[in-house]
Amino acid sequence: MSHPHLQDFVARLKSQIAGEIRLDRYSRILYSTDASIYQIMPLGVVIPRSVEDVHAVVELAAAYRIPLLPRTSGSSLAGQAVNEAVVIDFSKHLNQILEVNPEERWVRVQPGVVLDVLNLHLRPYGLQFGPDPASSNRAAMGGIISNNSTGAHSILYGNTVEHVLETKVILSDGSQAHFRPVDPEQLPQYCRRKGLEGEIYRRIHRLITENDEVIRRGTPRHWRRCGGYSLDRFVSGVSYRYHHDSRFNLARLICGAEGTLAVITEAKLNLVPLPGRTALGLVHFHSLHEALSAVPIILETEPSAVELLDNLGLTLCREVPEYARLMQTFMEGSPHCLLITEYYGREEQELARKVQHLSEHLRRHNVRCTVVPALEPWRQQNVWTVRKVGLGLMMKIKGDYKPIPFIEDAAVPVEHLAEYVARIERFCNELGTRVAYYAHASAGCIHVRPLINLKKQEEVDKLPQIAAFSAELVGGYGGALSSEHGDGRCRSWLNERFFGKELYGLFKQVKQIFDPQNLLNPG
Ligand SMILES: Cc1cc2nc3c(=O)[nH]c(=O)nc-3n(C[C@H](O)[C@H](O)[C@H](O)COP(=O)(O)OP(=O)(O)OC[C@H]3O[C@@H](n4cnc5c(N)ncnc54)[C@H](O)[C@@H]3O)c2cc1C
Repeated sequence: MSHPHLQDFVARLKSQIAGEIRLDRYSRILYSTDASIYQIMPLGVVIPRSVEDVHAVVELAAAYRIPLLPRTSGSSLAGQAVNEAVVIDFSKHLNQILEVNPEERWVRVQPGVVLDVLNLHLRPYGLQFGPDPASSNRAAMGGIISNNSTGAHSILYGNTVEHVLETKVILSDGSQAHFRPVDPEQLPQYCRRKGLEGEIYRRIHRLITENDEVIRRGTPRHWRRCGGYSLDRFVSGVSYRYHHDSRFNLARLICGAEGTLAVITEAKLNLVPLPGRTALGLVHFHSLHEALSAVPIILETEPSAVELLDNLGLTLCREVPEYARLMQTFMEGSPHCLLITEYYGREEQELARKVQHLSEHLRRHNVRCTVVPALEPWRQQNVWTVRKVGLGLMMKIKGDYKPIPFIEDAAVPVEHLAEYVARIERFCNELGTRVAYYAHASAGCIHVRPLINLKKQEEVDKLPQIAAFSAELVGGYGGALSSEHGDGRCRSWLNERFFGKELYGLFKQVKQIFDPQNLLNPG
């Protein structure tokens, strides 16, 4: 234990909570990693049984100045779910679905609810949570909200921030607050509230009002973004993908904050209808450049998703007999890569027409490709299985060179996607580094993963070089450095350069207002 007040903190905590406190080395090692390249030993782990337990943890931590790290499933890719702090693990007990309102299409949940579990529960109502991270079988709502996650269907639903209606939180001093939309005429009342909550309303409202031009100017033009604090959701004139409620709502600032502003104990979330039926057009290409250049043309046909299955992923899947068999059901010949293009619709005929239209549309634009339809649900399932296992297989590549996530979350407007990826690849190749790709072509977010050997210092030294080059390019295209995975340790060091001194200065003020002792997921 390496914090001067940890023992006193734990001694007091033991008498106040019903949940577990774990300080043994084994437990701490378990929580020392997430899905990123970082490993940091936490001070200890608390597994609260109730919101009252969480309240006691935060209140005592404030008194003893103990850093805290709220955490759900630890599947983050950028290192925001590891810290030298006391971890509060919400996944074991605070994982309840509290209320569903199908008429008004919302649900109230605790942070530990896993997204797939939530969607299974919502199925009978014909509803689902819109943003769909590929890690939905383990990612939980606390992390999804805090990373401002999204997934394959972001062109329909945007990011999570557009679906967070309210949050109940514990503030850094241990007081509680319920953040929700506030009408302009009510705002002065909220600003007069006592304690930290009132101070937050007053100071954040002033900060936004006095700096709306700085916020607008520093915000990436591209709608798919989750980096920095979500101040952009409080000003007009920035791009959104989904319906935007313009009322003042601090729940939005909590979204994307990566556990650094407050501890979420409950959230009210917007829901969307389940799609009736779906169909896929598997667009086969001879090169990655041709595929990415075709994305803006494909988008003109109004698909619900366009996902890339790149050459490395296809090659690795072909080597596993089980997946090779699945691939035979939807692939023709040996394409270099595929764009999985999905449509929503009511009837099979309507969907068949949409896929046919895709094929004709691409032909009219002289795009060199072949479109293979997948109309049957079982065939579509095969496609998505291969798409999902591709990443896992990539991570298991033999040898020490692994596809490392550190620039993977950049998103650029789709018209720049092919050029962005080509320039990154060229830069990496010049450093002697190969690159793997997958993910959300429709939204300009190709997860670019250079193959790096983290056991060699000269290879590790390439990380900041490649990251700085990528940030420069992305900024030039009006793109976002982080678009669903969050900033974490991996990208936050670039934020001042990326967002500019002024907006970065506002981010620092936001942190100071919410957490003056710098106790919540510090760093
Ligand atoms: C194979 C794979 C695929 C992935 N695909 C996607 C994808 O398609 N889209 C995507 O967006 N992400 C993806 N991710 C990244 C990650 O899974 C998501 O960002 C996910 O939303 C994180 O959820 P989690 O429960 O694991 O959160 P955690 O990693 O536990 O935490 C994430 C952040 O939330 C904070 N947090 C958690 N609970 C609370 C709380 N109660 N109060 C305050 N802060 C809290 C933590 O402090 C941390 O900063 C992927 C990851 C993997 C490994």
